[in-house]
Amino acid sequence: MAELTTDVRYIKGIGENRAKALNKLGIFTLRDLISYFPRGYEDRTLSRPIRELVPGESACVRAMIAAEPTAHRIRGGKMLVKARAVDESGTLDLVFFNQEYRKNGLHAGETYIFFGKVEGNLLRRQMVNPILEREGQQTLTGRIMPVYPLTAGISQLILSRAVRQGLDACRELMPDFLPDAVRRDHQLCYVNYAYENVHFPTSPEALEVARRRLVFEELFLLTCGLSLLRHRRRDVKGPACQALALAAFYEKLPFSLTNAQRRAIDDAVRDMCSGRPMNRLCQGDVGSGKTMVAAACIWFAVENGWQTALMAPTEILARQHYDNLSPLFARFGIRCALLTGSTRAKERRDILAGLADGTIDLCIGTHALLTEDVQYRKLGLVITDEQHRFGVNQRAALSQKAENPHMLVLSATPIPRTLALVIYGDLDVSVIDELPPGRQKVDTYAVGESYRERINAFLRRQVQEGHQVFIVCPLVGDDETVPDERKAVTAYAKKLQEEIFPDLRVAVLHGKMKPKEKDAVMAAFAAGESDILVSTTVIEVGVDVPNANTMVVENAEQFGLSQLHQLRGRVGRGSAKSYCILLSRDPTEEGKQRLKALTKTNDGFKISEEDLRLRGPGDFFGARQHGLPSLKVADLSCDMRLLDEAQQAAKALMAADPTLSDPAHRILRRRIYELFQVNADSLN
Ligand code: ADP
Ligand code: MG
Repeated sequence: MAELTTDVRYIKGIGENRAKALNKLGIFTLRDLISYFPRGYEDRTLSRPIRELVPGESACVRAMIAAEPTAHRIRGGKMLVKARAVDESGTLDLVFFNQEYRKNGLHAGETYIFFGKVEGNLLRRQMVNPILEREGQQTLTGRIMPVYPLTAGISQLILSRAVRQGLDACRELMPDFLPDAVRRDHQLCYVNYAYENVHFPTSPEALEVARRRLVFEELFLLTCGLSLLRHRRRDVKGPACQALALAAFYEKLPFSLTNAQRRAIDDAVRDMCSGRPMNRLCQGDVGSGKTMVAAACIWFAVENGWQTALMAPTEILARQHYDNLSPLFARFGIRCALLTGSTRAKERRDILAGLADGTIDLCIGTHALLTEDVQYRKLGLVITDEQHRFGVNQRAALSQKAENPHMLVLSATPIPRTLALVIYGDLDVSVIDELPPGRQKVDTYAVGESYRERINAFLRRQVQEGHQVFIVCPLVGDDETVPDERKAVTAYAKKLQEEIFPDLRVAVLHGKMKPKEKDAVMAAFAAGESDILVSTTVIEVGVDVPNANTMVVENAEQFGLSQLHQLRGRVGRGSAKSYCILLSRDPTEEGKQRLKALTKTNDGFKISEEDLRLRGPGDFFGARQHGLPSLKVADLSCDMRLLDEAQQAAKALMAADPTLSDPAHRILRRRIYELFQVNADSLN
């Protein structure tokens, strides 16, 4: 008797070798097998008389072999078998390459169903290597067939036969863990129907029904699982904080905060006073003022007697935070330190001592904050900036420095709220949806190479008017060569300096430079000692030079929209009118459309939705391994509505039974535990 956990070798035709190949596809058990979903389908339902076959179209034909097939050896020693089939309406030539067995396998006078792409012309139709079956024994023709992603040693046929057997073996074993009420309310089919029809749909409609159920199920399970995780955290104690009037902090700021900033701060402060650890994502467009939200939280935690750590993804950014925040905090008597990879040994020793004995309240830094010898006396709040650059593991490593510190994550990649839940898992989300007053939009143009001369003249004029310019280059290289970032940017800057702007000061910045050199270049640029900064995307995150009002992005088509938006956020920080010019070399129509989206709006949320629509969620996911179960069926770029529906349903269910301890939810609970296996400990 098979179980869902039975090894795939249980399937007839799957021996040691094929099992190994299937393992490569992640298939070990019968459940894995039937959960290995097709990447597409081939519609073999269309059936026509020979005379109505249209060259170029794929179709089934029911026809009789007219004469015994003939075999010829052709160049390269390959075998060519030819046959002719007829029905009442016409004649069809059949050609088989390298299928010698067809010679004796096809018999004159017998009728078969052939499926293949029709070639030739209306007078002489032909099929090359068609699929064929005896009439009445059809399993491969006359229906919609799954198309699976394959690996060496496994063909479509082997896999679809294995899945067929798998489905038959598992039919009685699949409990429907979706509660009846949920299934009814959302018009979802039964689990068996869904699995059957996602592999072997009886019609396009049946496939749609099946897919809908599976997508819903996947998103529903994920949401319920996250809710369990969140619920479990309710019993964890966080660093204790007392409510304090934030006015004392706000008074000393050079500007008044926006309502959106205050809301985000209120959210965070409420979390920190809740007795449980904060686990919050603060999401806001570039320039929306996330640093001040972080600063308010730091002030609040320090006033409550806790040490805090602020981690930035680059040294430049860490230093910038330090330069901005330490004078502000000095007014409150809050002691800050900067710890990065290039901190000198002696200074580093002092900082470590200060952290260990509690004389340092805030430590700002890079990954250097994660090294083992960094120990805190009383770490209560950990903030990571520009979260998409950090893996969840690094975040976890930092939080290990204390029992269960409050965590705040700042991100400038705006993500639709529903999606944020899937991507950031169990984080609570605050959105800063308002920019500080007086911000002007950056005028953006998407242009081609023919504008080069005009652009150069424009840049020169900007510099003459006292402004500065960023020129951003992606890594240019063809597929074969790994592009050398340093070379590309350096060579380009040299060319600009020597041939185009000999009278201007051109500087270079790239990721391969030593942190010290980078800092020096950035500092010089910020001080107005260079006019044009040619750089890779190292300037993407956070860097603030208000006098730079113009940005040119070379080969803009190679970037994602959200990334371009981030880059663009480097200009428009001062009072001067700002410009962003997106240069691209003959982009495709789709590429043009993409860049156009940026010229139309400065709203990061709209842009990320557009990105999501055009490129799918891969970009958002790719940056981050979240340790949550991965989505197999759901495609978040087009299943957003269903995501919303599944989240609502999960929310309602979890509100009624937060620990899923109702016996009616037993199977559901078990399924979630299986799925969250990686995190099983955290669920218990
Ligand atoms: P981001 O969200 O991209 O990290 P920053 O925190 O760097 O944005 O803020 C961008 C700029 O806006 C900084 O120069 C900051 O001092 C300024 N700023 C932040 N909040 C306000 C505000 N409420 N009013 C005016 N300027 C602000
Ligand atoms: Mg920032």
